Amino acid sequence: MKLIIHGGFFSESSTNQETKKAKQDALSDIVRLGHEYLKTHTALETVVYTVALLEDNELFNAGIGSQIQSDGKVRLSASLMDGKTEKFSGVINVEDIKNPIAVAKQLLPYDDRVLSGEGAQIFARENGFDYFNPITPQRQSEYEAKLNQQNNKGTVGCVALDAEGNLAAATSTGGKGFEIPCRVSDSATVAGNFANQHAGISCTGVGEDIVSGALAAKIVTRVTDGFSLKDAADKTFTELAVLDGFAGIIGISAAGEIYHCDSHPYMVWASFDVNLQVFS
Ligand code: ASP
Repeated sequence: MKLIIHGGFFSESSTNQETKKAKQDALSDIVRLGHEYLKTHTALETVVYTVALLEDNELFNAGIGSQIQSDGKVRLSASLMDGKTEKFSGVINVEDIKNPIAVAKQLLPYDDRVLSGEGAQIFARENGFDYFNPITPQRQSEYEAKLNQQNNKGTVGCVALDAEGNLAAATSTGGKGFEIPCRVSDSATVAGNFANQHAGISCTGVGEDIVSGALAAKIVTRVTDGFSLKDAADKTFTELAVLDGFAGIIGISAAGEIYHCDSHPYMVWASFDVNLQVFS
């Protein structure tokens, strides 16, 4: 059983050690809770549980505390991929929901598994997800001061390998902050979140770069074709460097390899197999 989570990029790392420490502490608590949960649940159930905990923490740019788009609205995107069935589900730019990852989970058995905007919100309400305003006073004042232009990232993600050897990946975001309304994030695409029976990957960074590099799907495909997770990720990041891409990933392979890499060293993440590791 293995679990790895991330809390996105941390652009103020050089100036705000307090926030960095708070994020590391939160990741270390949440990865422990997730790993405990994994002992009695599947990888799929665990990534949803763990990403919901991350969404509920205001420090991260997902769920409550998400960044605000340029028209003053928060639009959330989240996706889930079950490595066992190779089914992907997600919501894109859904408004007024507490846990978009739970809506993605609800969509998994449906034929139509990725919904956007109003359609996603109607589906959520019909399935018992109540109105929830994810805007915090902190994000509101950042928005008012247009501080989001500083690109302070904090998307969340989780990859799990369960006792049966199954993998799953989940990713959730409030987007880049101050973007054109309804801009589509990578987080609810196969570039940002992908898993099969060989590997699972969750990404963070500039969504446009992640989509251009097809990161998660490309790394998982390379592992499927025989690469180790490290070699697959490193090769993909060498290609991303040519595009001058800004991104980071966490992943686990079916062989039990846990790996993280990033184009810029400010990503916060934590993993748990036998021991806890917290890094940024
Ligand atoms: N990838 C996300 C996006 O571009 C942002 C992030 O990872 O922080 O929407």
